[in-house]
Amino acid sequence: MTIFTKIINGEIPSNKVFENDNFLAFHDINPKAPIHILIIPKKEVKDFQSADAKLIGEMTLFIHEVAKLMGLDKSGYRLIANNGKDSGQEVAHLHFHMLGGSKLAWPHLVDDTDTKKFF
Ligand code: AMP
Repeated sequence: MTIFTKIINGEIPSNKVFENDNFLAFHDINPKAPIHILIIPKKEVKDFQSADAKLIGEMTLFIHEVAKLMGLDKSGYRLIANNGKDSGQEVAHLHFHMLGGSKLAWPHLVDDTDTKKFF
């Protein structure tokens, strides 16, 4: 069981934004932008790679609602799903980070890896 399951079950508190029967959106405890929301399925799915199309389809509609609620549908936002070891995924429960509320930079690499080597 991950910390997100405990949040879903109400065993530990969260700053909720929106929820329905299948999904929950809450503020990240360590925000990387003025608005940093985590969006998770209530069903336990360990990462994006394990998710099926039905779940992602339903989650997409939920994410659209969260964006509208926060006004980010107009101003823009970034959606990130860290997946597995290289991404730095810390919590093994599928989640999208929704970042917005300001202009965002675009840094990714932790070192000087040659970004051309796969082309
Ligand atoms: P990731 O590295 O993609 O697995 O992201 C996990 C995210 O969960 C991080 O941004 C953490 O700040 C966030 N996080 C961890 N514990 C909590 C919590 N109790 N409430 C809200 N966000 C959390």
